[in-house]
Amino acid sequence: MCKAALHLWFQTAKRSLPWRENPTPYRVWVSEIMLQQTRASVVVAYFERWMQQFPDVETLARAPLEQVIKAWEGLGYYSRARNMHAAAREIVKNHEGRVPESREKLLQLPGLGSYTAGAILSFGFRQRAAAVDGNVTRVMCRYAWIDERVDRGATKKKIEAVTEQFLDEKEPWVTAEALIELGATVCTPRPKCGECPLRVGCEAFRRNAADALPLLAERAKTVQLRRTVLVIESGEFVLVKKNTEALMRDLWEFPFVEGNKIPKTWMRVPLHLEHRLQTVKHSFTRFSATLFPVCFRTPKRLPVEGFTWVKLSELTTLPFSSGHRKIVEELCASCT
Ligand code: SF4
Repeated sequence: MCKAALHLWFQTAKRSLPWRENPTPYRVWVSEIMLQQTRASVVVAYFERWMQQFPDVETLARAPLEQVIKAWEGLGYYSRARNMHAAAREIVKNHEGRVPESREKLLQLPGLGSYTAGAILSFGFRQRAAAVDGNVTRVMCRYAWIDERVDRGATKKKIEAVTEQFLDEKEPWVTAEALIELGATVCTPRPKCGECPLRVGCEAFRRNAADALPLLAERAKTVQLRRTVLVIESGEFVLVKKNTEALMRDLWEFPFVEGNKIPKTWMRVPLHLEHRLQTVKHSFTRFSATLFPVCFRTPKRLPVEGFTWVKLSELTTLPFSSGHRKIVEELCASCT
């Protein structure tokens, strides 16, 4: 009864999103990885550009990593792009360029977790498979009254089993996608139960206690960062480096020092203050950073280990982390 109401609701309430047209396994995979940490409205433009640039697994596998990272620039959590690139190469090497059709094989690919595997099997291959993301977790915990911490392995398995049982016999992929949509638009953290097609069978609604679930893990505290970013120019060159640390690997950045004091030298490079640029605020993973960019001139292009002197005019071709990219944008705007 509820399922029929859910399918009916989905037919009319379904948002029109580009990955829902022609949902091939590859398109589903790309969209689901992009959607992991990013809102659908932001993903749309990235998805469309990506599909033009890398229309299939083979094209993605052949592309240099730097080009893939550049296409991902601004989406954050860059390990997703690196993993997709590695997975595409593995699919070409071991699966004749076709996205595998089994959960077991999908889970062996880099960056593919249980949810993404379920989504590919369900929407891409139209198999009976549960795809449980944060939205579905919220819906099912409330609907079936699962009052256990959702970060625990046993709870995750329970939610997956309950979701799989709930899927329609004939069109399980429609139920799977409708549950995601319901969680994204109706059964939101502040649920709109009055509009919900599941309310007749929903245990949380019956108890008038939807706000009590799901039981979430405690959030890690946000760490505040304050950094002075050193934009060091010499002639038409500027000093930058390609990051090798895990969090920002393969992304370029300017040198920086902690705090908000203007140094006179840095790594033996003499710094002549030019002017300050606009303060930049940005967040990544559990960090909230305030960047104070300052432009300097230095007479000679002294070598600095790990850093490269790059032509100012070439900066926009390199992938930067989102905070430093804003600095590049302001810098290049003032050059033109
Ligand atoms: Fe969520 Fe309310 Fe719908 Fe239950 S009735 S699934 S709590 S929106």
